Amino acid sequence: MLRTILTSNIEEAAGFIRSGEVVAFPTETVYGLGADALNAVAIQKLFQAKRRPSDNPMIVHVSDPSEIDGIGSNIPKSAIRLIEAFFPGPLTLVLTRDPRIPEVVSAGLTTVGVRMPDHPIAREFLRACGRPVVAPSANVSGRPSPTTWQSVFEDLDGRISCILKADPTRVGLESTVVDCSDEVPVVLRTGSITLGQLQSVEPGAVLGRPNDAAMGRSPGTRHRHYAPTASVVLIDHPSDMAPDANAAYIGLAAHPDPESLVGYSVAADIESYARRLFEFFRECDRRGVETIYCQSVRREGLGAALMDRIHRAVER
Ligand code: AMP
Ligand code: MG
Repeated sequence: MLRTILTSNIEEAAGFIRSGEVVAFPTETVYGLGADALNAVAIQKLFQAKRRPSDNPMIVHVSDPSEIDGIGSNIPKSAIRLIEAFFPGPLTLVLTRDPRIPEVVSAGLTTVGVRMPDHPIAREFLRACGRPVVAPSANVSGRPSPTTWQSVFEDLDGRISCILKADPTRVGLESTVVDCSDEVPVVLRTGSITLGQLQSVEPGAVLGRPNDAAMGRSPGTRHRHYAPTASVVLIDHPSDMAPDANAAYIGLAAHPDPESLVGYSVAADIESYARRLFEFFRECDRRGVETIYCQSVRREGLGAALMDRIHRAVER
């Protein structure tokens, strides 16, 4: 068992990365679990801490676009245009992997995911690390991604060397993942950078469909994800809820009788619903809720990403 240091000191946290240890840090999407991308032993530690299946590739994080060359190679024009438009931001690009990046990073694939977070602490931390950092979400595999440092602590205390503490994350859902390793950019995972935004720069960009070859190359999209222990049920409106002694509700519409619920969250808009979802799942688990009812939203813009995450939690 490791002693997990909690700190707000960026330099202290970066020191652990430089000495081959695993560190959780904030980004604008969710908290990430970082390790030196060029150190295969550190990456092994990360897989173990997270209990992550070794066939699930990880995203390499950079503090500046100039570092992307050397992580990806033969970077296509489409990727360059997306980088210019959306980096830094909640967008991951899948590129052909440069041989400098160890194969374990991308679980044996010939490609690699790259992202530059739009978060001042993340960027300063990555700069202080002085090398590319792999960072999947800082949860135990299968659990909802952490949007607070306290949720990182709940999952990983004693399993990692350090948590860089900061505020709850702004977006609350993981990055949009776009495969740019082929001619047509394909969205492998929806997120807060929407298909419409991508198409405004790359009109040919498309959503990956479950049976596409590109989706087959993104193993993470097949794994069970984002699920609380409670069962999750999707409903159109809170009035559709069955009477239930141990239930919680999250959505946009108010519930007629919130007093009857063990957990309750009404969001003013889709952005706040998305920001709140994973932490709400975790709060419900802490309270032993049996069923979490989630109100459906329209699958457009950020709503598509929110519905994707809820569906994965329903399906398991
Ligand atoms: P996480 O780090 O938990 O946000 O998950 C990262 C996800 O990004 C993976 O589960 C994959 O779905 C996707 N991904 C990362 N790298 C690649 C890659 N080289 N090829 C395809 N998908 C990738
Ligand atoms: Mg994850």
